[in-house]
Amino acid sequence: MEPFQMQKKSSVPYFALVLWQEEYPHLTVGFSAREEDSSSMCHNYALHVEDQPSRVIENRKSLVRDLSFSLDSFTCGEQVHGIDIAYVTGEDRGRGNRDRESAFSNTDGLFSSEEDILLASFYADCVPLFFYAPDIDAIGVAHAGWKGTVQKIGPKMVTEMVSKGADISKIRVAIGPSIGACCYEVDEHVLHPMMDALECQELSTTVALPTSDHKAMLDLKEANAQLFKQIGLRDDQIVKSKYCTSCSNDYFHSYRRDKGDTGRMMSFIGKRGRS
Ligand SMILES: [Zn+2]
Repeated sequence: MEPFQMQKKSSVPYFALVLWQEEYPHLTVGFSAREEDSSSMCHNYALHVEDQPSRVIENRKSLVRDLSFSLDSFTCGEQVHGIDIAYVTGEDRGRGNRDRESAFSNTDGLFSSEEDILLASFYADCVPLFFYAPDIDAIGVAHAGWKGTVQKIGPKMVTEMVSKGADISKIRVAIGPSIGACCYEVDEHVLHPMMDALECQELSTTVALPTSDHKAMLDLKEANAQLFKQIGLRDDQIVKSKYCTSCSNDYFHSYRRDKGDTGRMMSFIGKRGRS
């Protein structure tokens, strides 16, 4: 079953990671969507694209209201396709919510143990990774394009959570909607580093299906799943979305499909305060 379910009753379209929300009712976890036949900037949540900042902030406000959070709790980084991860404390609450300057610079992963902080990151084809360590009640998000994937930002987040006391055998990971193998042909420039990351001479066809001259259809979601297994996560700790952001035109922006002229979806995870 698809772990990300469209929420029909909300005023703004988004997918909820229902599986986790049912198991851990204090969590709010999901991925934004856009509307069918909409403009390239419909429901855009990122300030780094060609969109009016005031509109972006209004979009963020509308979504967080639906999620029962506030814009003050919205916290994000400036993503650079790197693997730097920041630990978010109560004092960091709201960084990047209204401007780019206050966001965590050069940061593609965020994690926190604080309540009432909504960690957010932005996507148009790259892989959104979600993390939850139930034993220390820590949440995380990471942005994994092919560069972040081969540099192993996913496993790095797991290691960071373990360094804060999490038991690796209890950590949960979700791999969200992103470009699928159906729409993502790459060449050796990507395939070689991927082989290095997966420590193999040849990529299995579940990760990369060869097409023509040294090219292949790459499954970035599966590559991330295999990297998690490489560090010891079991299948039952990992869930993976089937949605392809390029094919599912009615729900998602896609950088590849729309040739760069596109807004960004947003991944989010937060713990609601118990007060
Ligand atoms: Zn596709």
